[in-house]
Amino acid sequence: MGVFDALEREFEQVVFFHDPASTLRAIIAIHSTALGPALGGTRFYPYSSEREALQDVLRLARGMTYKAAAAGLDLGGGKAVIVGDPKRIKSEELLRAYGRFIDTLGGRYITAEDVGTSGEDMDVIRRETRSVTGVSPGMGGSGDPSPVTAYGVFKGLIACAEEVWKDSSLVGRRVAVQGVGKVGYHLVKLLAEAGATVVASDVDVDAVARVVREFGVDTANPDKVHAEECDIFAPCALGGAIRDDTIPSLKCRVVAGSANNQLESPEHGAVLREAGILYAPDYVINAGGLINVADELRGYDRDRAMGRVEAIYRTLREVFSISRQEDISTNEAADRFALDRIERITRLRRYWVPGRSTAGPRAVW
Ligand code: NAD
Repeated sequence: MGVFDALEREFEQVVFFHDPASTLRAIIAIHSTALGPALGGTRFYPYSSEREALQDVLRLARGMTYKAAAAGLDLGGGKAVIVGDPKRIKSEELLRAYGRFIDTLGGRYITAEDVGTSGEDMDVIRRETRSVTGVSPGMGGSGDPSPVTAYGVFKGLIACAEEVWKDSSLVGRRVAVQGVGKVGYHLVKLLAEAGATVVASDVDVDAVARVVREFGVDTANPDKVHAEECDIFAPCALGGAIRDDTIPSLKCRVVAGSANNQLESPEHGAVLREAGILYAPDYVINAGGLINVADELRGYDRDRAMGRVEAIYRTLREVFSISRQEDISTNEAADRFALDRIERITRLRRYWVPGRSTAGPRAVW
């Protein structure tokens, strides 16, 4: 794939940066700033080729545009990758060189942590640029986003319950949670408090033992948790839980969890719909983490962030309604919802040229 091919199709800007002294090799992709500065994390990963790194950063940046738009944020979509093994090459000078690189973009791109980067790394980057979120609480940051993400998923599950059972209560609903790590743990807690019956599963036996000890939940084999007899299957581990070989064994009415890229391919959304299973699009239901870091841009306030996360409930209701009315899968409905908001808001910014255009708002004197 040529860089200009990608740019011509849809990206605003793709920037490459190399600092030989620190061995930094980074790519920042700005997909869209239509709604505001492009916010997205920095993935630090030993990509096997530049092509692979470029493909990943473009894919991830595009996803952030949709995610921020659907979350109702005044933010666009972007992402960054640093090529290399973070365990081997991460250093103060590399991160600071990267911070200076971000700063050259003048606020068009704002970074955050992602795979291979941490809150401490964001603190180092902050020494060179203000265009960074996810710094430590002592520096005005929002801290661990996982409880906020879990809260958003929990609100999303209520929207799903209303859609499927016309009942917002989760009392007695059986929820199979795949992955009880940072987000899954907090989700299990909220579900237990709400009176749901949880079946927890994780490849990490200590993580499972913890939720059993604290919340008295049932457990399932990680290889078979998707096939559990349940009302809701909540993927909260890695991506790709919903694919050709898992869909036929699903025995739930709802798939809704925090994991990114739950569908192996977008077509699996339509397959779930045909099977009568409601799917909560991942980037809508797991937007709590993004909403949380975005709040740092105004001076972080956890109550305000939590309040904004509650909007995930309304957004999902709207997405389900579009899916019903248009007879399309919920993931397609989510994309339409996001694009529609981008179109409506960018229209406000267009100027009306007398005699040339009827688009855009007009002042009435
Ligand atoms: P985490 O690493 O803390 O937890 C993931 C858990 O899944 C781990 O305990 C791991 O052992 C387990 N796991 C891995 N493979 C598994 C398998 N095959 N079966 C069962 N369990 C398995 O990560 P996290 O922060 O809790 O994030 C979970 C998911 O949610 C990820 O996909 C992440 O991208 C997404 N997400 C997280 C946040 C956040 O705020 N942390 C925000 C948005 C999206």
